[in-house]
Amino acid sequence: MARQKLGQHFLTRGSVLERIARAACPDREPLVVEIGPGRGALTTHLLARADRVIAIEIDRGLAQRLAQTVGHAAAGNLEVVEANALEIDLAQWGPATITGNLPYYAATAILERVMALGPLVRRGVFLTQKEVAERITASPGSRAYGYLSVAMQLSADIELLFEVSPAAFHPPPKVDSAVLRFVPHDRAAEMGIADRLDFLRFVALCFRQKRKILRNNLAAKYGAAVDAWPEVMVRAEQIGIPVFAAMYRRLVT
Ligand code: SAM
Repeated sequence: MARQKLGQHFLTRGSVLERIARAACPDREPLVVEIGPGRGALTTHLLARADRVIAIEIDRGLAQRLAQTVGHAAAGNLEVVEANALEIDLAQWGPATITGNLPYYAATAILERVMALGPLVRRGVFLTQKEVAERITASPGSRAYGYLSVAMQLSADIELLFEVSPAAFHPPPKVDSAVLRFVPHDRAAEMGIADRLDFLRFVALCFRQKRKILRNNLAAKYGAAVDAWPEVMVRAEQIGIPVFAAMYRRLVT
């Protein structure tokens, strides 16, 4: 029985599983960390392309079954870790490709943890809800653009590779899905931002009320300091990362 609360929609279409595995491992990979392996459908495809797979699964029953079946057949190449991907130290295995068909309820929180690993992520390939994938890859001026777009694009070059229909899963989810590829790219360092988290707090404040112009969102904290800036007369959804960075640098230096 799939546990809907844990976002258990198992991928059953072989061609989709193979495409995800190929995107995660275009060449043979030394180490892949898979988040939410479930019954091991993607894990099997990854094992064919990687020397070692670490699979982090929160559901005890699934983790035990996976270790006994796919793990047994993989003769030491698969390590199943029963853990919560929102809590476990993802840096402990060193540089790795990270992938997974993510549980929808926790997808953005898991992606934020993965992106915080910086260069330890060799590549990230993730299946998420299509609407989330569109928000992550959105450009300034589009409806989907917001804090999540900035937070993710600050740390990686991100591409929406392909869409996946509900029919590819069992049980089928109610929404469409999409596969994203992340290649780490430290834009914060490039733009002279030493404290990435503090910068993201500033960006979150800019987006606090999306319909208001920036000056109104920033007034309570920065008051007159920002009043005369031309950039604050538009909404945050109009502004790209370099302009957020320029404003932030002006405020902290
Ligand atoms: N990879 C499998 C597939 O494609 O068929 C399963 C994907 S299913 C969408 C998500 C999986 O993540 C489930 O097996 C679920 O139990 C697991 N999961 C949910 N929350 C998790 C968490 N916080 N940490 C680790 N695994 C989690």
